[in-house]
Amino acid sequence: MKEITILSGKGGTGKTSITAALASIAKNTVFCDNDVDAADLHLILHPEIKEKHIYEGAWVAEINEEQCNNCGICFTHCRFDAIHDINSQYTINPLQCEGCRLCERVCPSNAIISERSLNNTWYVSDTRFGKMVHATMGPGEENSGKLVSEIRRKAREIASKTNADFILNDGPPGIGCTAISSITGTNSVLLVIEPTLSGLHDIKRLIELVRTFKIPMNAIINKSDINTEVTKKIEEYLKNNVIRLLAKIPFNETFVDAMIKGQSIIEYAPDSEISQALKYIWSEISKEENEKTFHLVTNE
Ligand code: SF4
Ligand code: SF4
Repeated sequence: MKEITILSGKGGTGKTSITAALASIAKNTVFCDNDVDAADLHLILHPEIKEKHIYEGAWVAEINEEQCNNCGICFTHCRFDAIHDINSQYTINPLQCEGCRLCERVCPSNAIISERSLNNTWYVSDTRFGKMVHATMGPGEENSGKLVSEIRRKAREIASKTNADFILNDGPPGIGCTAISSITGTNSVLLVIEPTLSGLHDIKRLIELVRTFKIPMNAIINKSDINTEVTKKIEEYLKNNVIRLLAKIPFNETFVDAMIKGQSIIEYAPDSEISQALKYIWSEISKEENEKTFHLVTNE
Protein backbone atom coordinates (compact mmCIF):
# COMPACT_ATOMS: atom_id res chain seq x y z
CA MET A 1 0.00 0.00 0.00
CA LYS A 2 1.37 3.36 -1.03
CA GLU A 3 0.47 6.68 0.60
CA ILE A 4 0.57 9.78 -1.60
CA THR A 5 0.16 13.29 -0.18
CA ILE A 6 -0.75 16.29 -2.31
CA LEU A 7 0.61 19.58 -0.99
CA SER A 8 0.89 23.21 -2.00
CA GLY A 9 3.03 25.98 -0.58
CA LYS A 10 0.01 28.30 -0.42
CA GLY A 11 -3.77 28.24 -0.71
CA GLY A 12 -5.60 28.78 -3.99
CA THR A 13 -3.34 26.69 -6.22
CA GLY A 14 -6.14 24.30 -7.25
CA LYS A 15 -4.78 21.47 -5.08
CA THR A 16 -8.20 20.16 -4.02
CA SER A 17 -9.58 20.17 -7.58
CA ILE A 18 -6.54 18.16 -8.63
CA THR A 19 -6.90 15.79 -5.65
CA ALA A 20 -10.57 15.23 -6.53
CA ALA A 21 -9.65 14.55 -10.16
CA LEU A 22 -7.02 12.01 -9.10
CA ALA A 23 -9.54 10.49 -6.67
CA SER A 24 -11.87 9.79 -9.57
CA ILE A 25 -9.10 7.96 -11.44
CA ALA A 26 -7.53 6.06 -8.54
CA LYS A 27 -8.85 2.55 -7.94
CA ASN A 28 -8.90 0.70 -4.62
CA THR A 29 -7.88 3.86 -2.74
CA VAL A 30 -8.75 5.41 0.63
CA PHE A 31 -9.05 9.20 0.64
CA CYS A 32 -8.10 11.42 3.55
CA ASP A 33 -8.68 15.18 3.77
CA ASN A 34 -5.72 16.40 5.84
CA ASP A 35 -6.63 20.06 5.39
CA VAL A 36 -8.64 19.95 8.62
CA ASP A 37 -8.52 23.73 9.17
CA ALA A 38 -10.31 24.40 5.88
CA ALA A 39 -11.55 21.05 4.60
CA ASP A 40 -13.19 21.23 1.17
CA LEU A 41 -12.62 17.89 -0.56
CA HIS A 42 -16.14 16.94 0.58
CA LEU A 43 -17.56 19.58 -1.80
CA ILE A 44 -16.63 17.33 -4.72
CA LEU A 45 -16.56 13.86 -3.14
CA HIS A 46 -19.95 14.32 -1.34
CA PRO A 47 -19.22 11.87 1.46
CA GLU A 48 -22.04 9.88 3.02
CA ILE A 49 -21.11 9.80 6.70
CA LYS A 50 -20.97 6.32 8.22
CA GLU A 51 -19.06 7.00 11.46
CA LYS A 52 -18.74 10.12 13.55
CA HIS A 53 -16.18 10.56 16.34
CA ILE A 54 -15.43 13.42 18.72
CA TYR A 55 -11.78 14.44 18.85
CA GLU A 56 -10.82 16.03 22.16
CA GLY A 57 -9.18 19.39 21.59
CA ALA A 58 -7.06 21.60 23.85
CA TRP A 59 -7.75 22.28 27.52
CA VAL A 60 -9.93 25.31 28.21
CA ALA A 61 -10.20 26.84 31.71
CA GLU A 62 -13.38 28.18 33.25
CA ILE A 63 -14.04 30.09 36.48
CA ASN A 64 -16.79 28.97 38.83
CA GLU A 65 -18.17 32.36 39.88
CA GLU A 66 -19.72 31.01 43.06
CA GLN A 67 -16.35 29.80 44.37
CA CYS A 68 -14.34 32.78 43.11
CA ASN A 69 -13.45 35.48 45.69
CA ASN A 70 -12.16 37.88 43.03
CA CYS A 71 -8.61 37.95 44.43
CA GLY A 72 -7.18 38.49 40.90
CA ILE A 73 -4.29 36.04 41.31
CA CYS A 74 -5.26 34.16 38.14
CA PHE A 75 -5.50 37.46 36.24
CA THR A 76 -1.94 38.43 37.15
CA HIS A 77 -0.55 34.98 36.30
CA CYS A 78 -2.17 34.40 32.89
CA ARG A 79 0.52 35.06 30.26
CA PHE A 80 -2.01 34.98 27.42
CA ASP A 81 -4.28 37.80 28.62
CA ALA A 82 -7.19 35.37 28.53
CA ILE A 83 -8.59 36.46 31.90
CA HIS A 84 -10.63 39.66 32.07
CA ASP A 85 -12.18 41.70 34.86
CA ILE A 86 -15.74 42.25 33.70
CA ASN A 87 -18.03 44.14 36.08
CA SER A 88 -15.83 43.12 39.05
CA GLN A 89 -15.91 39.44 38.15
CA TYR A 90 -12.92 37.66 36.66
CA THR A 91 -13.83 35.62 33.63
CA ILE A 92 -11.90 33.61 31.00
CA ASN A 93 -12.27 34.17 27.28
CA PRO A 94 -12.15 30.61 25.85
CA LEU A 95 -10.89 31.88 22.47
CA GLN A 96 -7.82 33.40 24.16
CA CYS A 97 -7.19 30.60 26.65
CA GLU A 98 -4.16 28.50 25.64
CA GLY A 99 -5.00 25.73 28.08
CA CYS A 100 -1.76 25.96 30.08
CA ARG A 101 -3.75 25.35 33.30
CA LEU A 102 -1.53 27.65 35.38
CA CYS A 103 -4.56 29.61 36.67
CA GLU A 104 -6.06 26.37 37.93
CA ARG A 105 -2.94 25.70 40.01
CA VAL A 106 -2.56 29.20 41.49
CA CYS A 107 -6.22 29.78 42.38
CA PRO A 108 -6.49 29.66 46.20
CA SER A 109 -10.22 28.91 46.06
CA ASN A 110 -10.11 25.98 43.62
CA ALA A 111 -12.55 28.01 41.55
CA ILE A 112 -11.03 27.14 38.17
CA ILE A 113 -11.53 23.91 36.30
CA SER A 114 -10.20 22.95 32.87
CA GLU A 115 -11.86 20.64 30.40
CA ARG A 116 -10.92 19.38 26.97
CA SER A 117 -12.85 21.08 24.20
CA LEU A 118 -15.19 18.77 22.28
CA ASN A 119 -15.66 20.91 19.17
CA ASN A 120 -13.66 18.74 16.76
CA THR A 121 -15.24 15.85 14.90
CA TRP A 122 -13.83 13.31 12.48
CA TYR A 123 -15.74 11.03 10.15
CA VAL A 124 -15.47 7.87 8.12
CA SER A 125 -17.60 8.15 5.00
CA ASP A 126 -18.45 6.42 1.77
CA THR A 127 -17.96 8.27 -1.51
CA ARG A 128 -18.57 7.21 -5.11
CA PHE A 129 -14.81 6.64 -5.40
CA GLY A 130 -14.16 4.81 -2.11
CA LYS A 131 -13.83 5.31 1.63
CA MET A 132 -12.96 8.77 2.91
CA VAL A 133 -11.72 9.97 6.31
CA HIS A 134 -12.20 13.65 7.06
CA ALA A 135 -12.74 16.10 9.92
CA THR A 136 -14.19 19.40 10.99
CA MET A 137 -12.69 21.72 13.61
CA GLY A 138 -14.56 24.16 15.80
CA PRO A 139 -13.79 27.92 15.57
CA GLY A 140 -10.53 28.84 17.29
CA GLU A 141 -9.64 25.18 17.91
CA GLU A 142 -6.00 24.14 18.03
CA ASN A 143 -4.08 20.83 17.86
CA SER A 144 -4.99 20.46 14.17
CA GLY A 145 -1.69 18.62 13.58
CA LYS A 146 -2.69 15.92 16.07
CA LEU A 147 -6.10 15.64 14.42
CA VAL A 148 -4.38 15.07 11.05
CA SER A 149 -2.31 12.28 12.64
CA GLU A 150 -5.50 10.75 14.01
CA ILE A 151 -7.39 10.70 10.70
CA ARG A 152 -4.34 9.42 8.84
CA ARG A 153 -4.06 6.61 11.37
CA LYS A 154 -7.70 5.73 10.69
CA ALA A 155 -7.19 5.91 6.91
CA ARG A 156 -4.26 3.48 7.24
CA GLU A 157 -6.37 1.14 9.37
CA ILE A 158 -9.13 1.10 6.72
CA ALA A 159 -6.61 0.67 3.91
CA SER A 160 -5.04 -2.26 5.70
CA LYS A 161 -8.40 -3.95 6.42
CA THR A 162 -9.65 -3.48 2.86
CA ASN A 163 -6.33 -4.29 1.16
CA ALA A 164 -6.35 -0.90 -0.53
CA ASP A 165 -3.51 -0.16 -2.92
CA PHE A 166 -3.29 3.56 -2.10
CA ILE A 167 -4.10 6.27 0.41
CA LEU A 168 -4.50 9.68 -1.21
CA ASN A 169 -4.11 12.59 1.21
CA ASP A 170 -5.36 16.07 0.34
CA GLY A 171 -2.79 18.00 2.38
CA PRO A 172 -2.99 21.51 3.79
CA PRO A 173 -1.30 24.54 2.22
CA GLY A 174 1.84 25.95 3.84
CA ILE A 175 4.48 24.51 6.14
CA GLY A 176 2.67 24.53 9.49
CA CYS A 177 2.06 21.66 11.89
CA THR A 178 -0.72 20.18 9.74
CA ALA A 179 1.66 20.05 6.77
CA ILE A 180 4.29 18.34 8.94
CA SER A 181 1.66 15.83 10.14
CA SER A 182 0.67 15.20 6.51
CA ILE A 183 4.22 14.62 5.33
CA THR A 184 5.35 12.35 8.17
CA GLY A 185 5.40 8.72 7.03
CA THR A 186 3.94 9.32 3.57
CA ASN A 187 5.62 7.55 0.65
CA SER A 188 5.42 10.27 -1.95
CA VAL A 189 4.50 13.95 -2.25
CA LEU A 190 2.88 15.66 -5.22
CA LEU A 191 3.46 19.42 -5.21
CA VAL A 192 0.85 21.67 -6.82
CA ILE A 193 2.51 24.97 -7.68
CA GLU A 194 0.99 28.23 -8.87
CA PRO A 195 3.28 30.45 -10.98
CA THR A 196 3.20 33.62 -8.93
CA LEU A 197 6.08 35.15 -6.99
CA SER A 198 4.43 34.21 -3.69
CA GLY A 199 3.79 30.72 -5.10
CA LEU A 200 7.50 30.38 -5.95
CA HIS A 201 8.58 31.65 -2.55
CA ASP A 202 6.20 29.34 -0.67
CA ILE A 203 7.02 26.25 -2.70
CA LYS A 204 10.73 26.70 -1.99
CA ARG A 205 9.98 26.61 1.74
CA LEU A 206 7.76 23.54 1.32
CA ILE A 207 10.37 21.71 -0.75
CA GLU A 208 12.97 22.39 1.95
CA LEU A 209 10.56 20.96 4.53
CA VAL A 210 9.70 17.81 2.53
CA ARG A 211 13.39 17.27 1.82
CA THR A 212 14.12 16.98 5.55
CA PHE A 213 11.81 13.94 5.57
CA LYS A 214 13.68 12.39 2.60
CA ILE A 215 10.39 11.72 0.76
CA PRO A 216 10.33 11.68 -3.07
CA MET A 217 8.55 14.62 -4.70
CA ASN A 218 6.85 15.18 -8.06
CA ALA A 219 5.39 18.49 -9.16
CA ILE A 220 2.68 20.06 -11.28
CA ILE A 221 2.56 23.72 -12.26
CA ASN A 222 -1.11 24.63 -12.29
CA LYS A 223 -2.40 27.68 -14.22
CA SER A 224 1.02 27.61 -15.90
CA ASP A 225 0.09 30.28 -18.47
CA ILE A 226 -0.85 33.05 -15.99
CA ASN A 227 2.78 34.07 -15.62
CA THR A 228 5.13 32.34 -18.05
CA GLU A 229 8.19 34.09 -16.64
CA VAL A 230 7.61 32.70 -13.15
CA THR A 231 6.68 29.32 -14.65
CA LYS A 232 10.15 29.22 -16.22
CA LYS A 233 11.75 30.11 -12.88
CA ILE A 234 9.82 27.31 -11.18
CA GLU A 235 10.86 24.84 -13.89
CA GLU A 236 14.47 25.84 -13.39
CA TYR A 237 14.20 25.55 -9.62
CA LEU A 238 12.63 22.08 -9.89
CA LYS A 239 15.32 20.96 -12.34
CA ASN A 240 18.11 22.22 -10.10
CA ASN A 241 16.54 20.37 -7.19
CA VAL A 242 16.00 17.15 -9.18
CA ILE A 243 12.22 17.21 -8.74
CA ARG A 244 10.18 15.75 -11.62
CA LEU A 245 7.78 18.17 -13.26
CA LEU A 246 4.94 15.91 -14.42
CA ALA A 247 2.75 18.52 -16.11
CA LYS A 248 2.13 22.17 -16.78
CA ILE A 249 -1.61 22.74 -16.74
CA PRO A 250 -2.81 26.03 -18.22
CA PHE A 251 -5.57 28.01 -16.54
CA ASN A 252 -8.92 26.58 -17.55
CA GLU A 253 -12.40 27.56 -16.40
CA THR A 254 -13.54 23.96 -16.79
CA PHE A 255 -12.14 23.34 -13.29
CA VAL A 256 -14.49 26.00 -11.94
CA ASP A 257 -17.46 24.69 -13.96
CA ALA A 258 -16.84 21.17 -12.66
CA MET A 259 -16.57 22.46 -9.07
CA ILE A 260 -19.89 24.32 -9.43
CA LYS A 261 -21.50 21.06 -10.56
CA GLY A 262 -19.92 19.27 -7.58
CA GLN A 263 -17.92 17.02 -9.91
CA SER A 264 -14.28 16.31 -10.56
CA ILE A 265 -12.97 17.53 -13.90
CA ILE A 266 -12.55 13.89 -14.98
CA GLU A 267 -16.30 13.37 -14.55
CA TYR A 268 -17.28 16.76 -15.98
CA ALA A 269 -14.99 16.79 -19.01
CA PRO A 270 -13.55 13.27 -19.38
CA ASP A 271 -12.19 13.80 -22.89
CA SER A 272 -10.59 17.19 -22.24
CA GLU A 273 -6.87 17.64 -22.60
CA ILE A 274 -6.60 18.45 -18.88
CA SER A 275 -8.32 15.19 -17.97
CA GLN A 276 -5.81 13.33 -20.15
CA ALA A 277 -2.98 15.14 -18.36
CA LEU A 278 -4.42 14.22 -14.95
CA LYS A 279 -4.69 10.57 -15.97
CA TYR A 280 -1.05 10.71 -16.97
CA ILE A 281 -0.15 12.31 -13.62
CA TRP A 282 -1.91 9.55 -11.70
CA SER A 283 -0.25 6.83 -13.77
CA GLU A 284 3.12 8.40 -12.97
CA ILE A 285 2.71 9.02 -9.26
CA SER A 286 1.18 5.61 -8.75
CA LYS A 287 4.20 3.85 -10.26
CA GLU A 288 7.00 6.43 -10.29
CA GLU A 289 9.19 4.83 -12.89
CA ASN A 290 8.75 7.07 -15.86
CA GLU A 291 10.94 10.15 -16.28
CA LYS A 292 8.82 11.82 -18.98
CA THR A 293 7.22 15.21 -18.51
CA PHE A 294 3.74 15.77 -19.89
CA HIS A 295 3.31 19.14 -21.58
CA LEU A 296 -0.13 20.36 -22.52
CA VAL A 297 -0.43 22.54 -25.57
CA THR A 298 -0.06 26.07 -24.28
CA ASN A 299 0.64 29.45 -25.79
CA GLU A 300 4.12 29.56 -24.28
S1 SF4 B 1 -7.52 33.14 41.40
FE1 SF4 B 1 -9.41 31.99 41.78
S2 SF4 B 1 -10.45 33.14 43.35
FE2 SF4 B 1 -8.88 34.49 42.54
S3 SF4 B 1 -9.92 35.67 40.94
FE3 SF4 B 1 -9.05 33.89 39.95
S4 SF4 B 1 -10.67 32.36 40.00
FE4 SF4 B 1 -11.23 33.91 41.45
S1 SF4 C 1 -5.33 28.02 31.28
FE1 SF4 C 1 -3.54 29.34 30.98
S2 SF4 C 1 -4.13 30.54 29.20
FE2 SF4 C 1 -6.01 29.67 29.97
S3 SF4 C 1 -6.81 31.25 31.33
FE3 SF4 C 1 -5.60 29.85 32.58
S4 SF4 C 1 -3.55 30.75 32.69
FE4 SF4 C 1 -4.67 31.76 31.01
